[in-house]
Amino acid sequence: MASGTPPHAAAAGTRLDPWLSSYAARTQGMRASEIRALFAVANRPEVVSLAGGMPYLEGLPLDILGELTQRVVATRGTTALQYGSGQGDEGLREQILEVMRLEGITAHPDDVVVTTGSQQALDLVTRIFIDPGDVIVAEAPSYVGALGVFSAYQADVVHVPLDADGLIPSALEETLTALEREGRRVKLLYTVPNFHNPAGVTLSAERRPQILEIARRHGVLVLEDNPYGLLGFEGDPIPAMRALDDDGVIYLGSFSKTFAPGYRVGWAVAPHAVREKLVLASESAILCPSNASQLAISAYLSTCDWKGQVKSFRELYRERRDAMIGALSEHLPDASWTVPNGGFYTWVKLPEGLDAKAMLPRAVTSRVAYVPGTAFYADGQGADHMRLSFCFPTPERIREGVRRLAGVVAGESEL
Ligand code: PMP
Repeated sequence: MASGTPPHAAAAGTRLDPWLSSYAARTQGMRASEIRALFAVANRPEVVSLAGGMPYLEGLPLDILGELTQRVVATRGTTALQYGSGQGDEGLREQILEVMRLEGITAHPDDVVVTTGSQQALDLVTRIFIDPGDVIVAEAPSYVGALGVFSAYQADVVHVPLDADGLIPSALEETLTALEREGRRVKLLYTVPNFHNPAGVTLSAERRPQILEIARRHGVLVLEDNPYGLLGFEGDPIPAMRALDDDGVIYLGSFSKTFAPGYRVGWAVAPHAVREKLVLASESAILCPSNASQLAISAYLSTCDWKGQVKSFRELYRERRDAMIGALSEHLPDASWTVPNGGFYTWVKLPEGLDAKAMLPRAVTSRVAYVPGTAFYADGQGADHMRLSFCFPTPERIREGVRRLAGVVAGESEL
């Protein structure tokens, strides 16, 4: 090595990471998805991807949105392109109250913190509450992106089962009691009550107050993650848990699924003291959410028929859900699955003895992709399940995808 050459330069060009011993311990919890490489293949046009949770943006009036964005910059450019408030634009926060009212939530604009998607809100909540080793109780299965955040902050995730009516109150009671007996510190209960990702189920109206009562009695804050609540296929939305309890719940909302994820705008509603900490944490992470995105969404909400748009998304996704369930019944009679009343996903249990993760490379070779169940657990369960999304492919593609999947399952059973 030439004199004066920094030691790390010797490793440049090799596969060794010269900074390996420098990383913080928390990076050990940050793992690349084991299936990421396969997804690069899954995105090829010949593959029917039942894997991603991408909303169907061709359903949006893109020309109108283009004009609206242009108008925001032309008329409010010095605000839209400037730094803004760490808590988020006040006008948008007021409009968010109107969105949440559809699920029975009453709040004040000061209670709302605008975030860069609800994913950032998950990060902020975890950052302000979790020390390494603290317990987060979460549904089995749980949203993979939340598990990634929890793991990055070195939380210990303890799963509680759900059934067709969502999280099971007696199982939650048992788990919290057992953890208490072991002297474990449980900080949060993470739940996706509506049209669960990945399970597709919804927490029943009867169970909501029961879950809240159990959490309150055990001194556990509820983290209600609700990006899909307005995308129900039948009837009115069930009142949110935050609608029943305004000091024991942090509620997370998002415009990603009902409008468009590219703006990256979500929000948190939290009790006063928690909200102040969230704003401080957000300011240190990003200074402020994007004003350009917030003002574009604000203009969309005030000038477009956004409720009509959500309704047309509901109809579109209902048709795709029907295509998915119909195809599963026809082609995979030996599997079982949930029938979601809204949202993007169904959760499929494979016939006895099959492993969704081991099967995935063969599925991709057969030009169909899904997410194996193991992605949705912190503890390696779920090999016999897969998540199928019906949000993005057309009904014909969904039917073709399930037909291909059935071929892979049949081949697998013969192995
Ligand atoms: N929570 C759940 C349950 C989700 O499914 C998603 C997106 N897939 C998110 C949070 C994050 O959404 P965003 O950051 O786009 O608001």
